[in-house]
Amino acid sequence: MTDTSIPTTVAPQVLLINHFKTLKLPTFAREYEKVGIECAREGIDYARFLLRLCELECIDREQRNTERRIRQAKFPVTKSLDTFDFVAIPGLNKSLVLELMRCEWIDKRENIIALGPSGVGKTHIALALGLAACQKGMSVLFTTAAALVHELMEARDEKRLRTLQKHLANVKLLIVDELGYVPFTAVGAELLFEVFSRRYENGATLVTSNLPFDEWTSVLGSERLTGALLDRLTHHVHILEMNGESYRLAASKKRQKQIGQSKSTKEDANQYK
Ligand code: ADP
Ligand code: MG
Repeated sequence: MTDTSIPTTVAPQVLLINHFKTLKLPTFAREYEKVGIECAREGIDYARFLLRLCELECIDREQRNTERRIRQAKFPVTKSLDTFDFVAIPGLNKSLVLELMRCEWIDKRENIIALGPSGVGKTHIALALGLAACQKGMSVLFTTAAALVHELMEARDEKRLRTLQKHLANVKLLIVDELGYVPFTAVGAELLFEVFSRRYENGATLVTSNLPFDEWTSVLGSERLTGALLDRLTHHVHILEMNGESYRLAASKKRQKQIGQSKSTKEDANQYK
């Protein structure tokens, strides 16, 4: 039997940890003892001790929020501009890309359309711009045109189209990759049009496509719908012309050439053995 008459004293550390949890201050909980020892050693007063903890909590919170936004953006992979080689695509306007990385176009609810053949880095640039937006505190959603249409059709069948449309309208930056590879049914094209239409002047949209504008009818079906969609999308738009050789193809050609060269050097060396 336990004696309830004896008052149990809870260590202040335990209470503190509980309060930090309630107040959602995980960095305080993790760091307060260490920072306390440091401050005592350095003769730092209480206000500065608290300030140090608050600053650490703010930095960590920003980091956690960015990580959450990156998870919610559903990027297939994370890519940044650090690994993008502008020399490989001289036709691309580098200064415009660098300017767009500042994300002011997203605040202004403008759009980007990246056009070019397969493998030239359209998705890479889209991912880098999406990542920059997440780091600047903006909500992002990345999807391909085919996946988006599929999801819209599914939501419509399951009577949750309104919820999905709301989510798609509210995200600060919507990235629709690969418009052009898969043609849509009439219903699919209309659902996609509705997404762009709702976002018009309400949110920023980035579209990548392998097709020039005059061929968009081939995926959207109707000329009238394509015209209306392009009208909205291109009203406030930055076009990234990405014409060049496929980076993948160029890289694999370079590898083949290197293998070929090292083979012939070995053969030459063998001749004289
Ligand atoms: P696209 O979307 O135009 O088909 P991707 O962005 O998928 O092309 O590029 C194909 C691959 O080549 C990716 O792994 C991408 O990171 C890489 N890549 C393309 N262009 C470049 C570049 N200029 N610098 C570095 N990597 C690149
Ligand atoms: Mg791509």
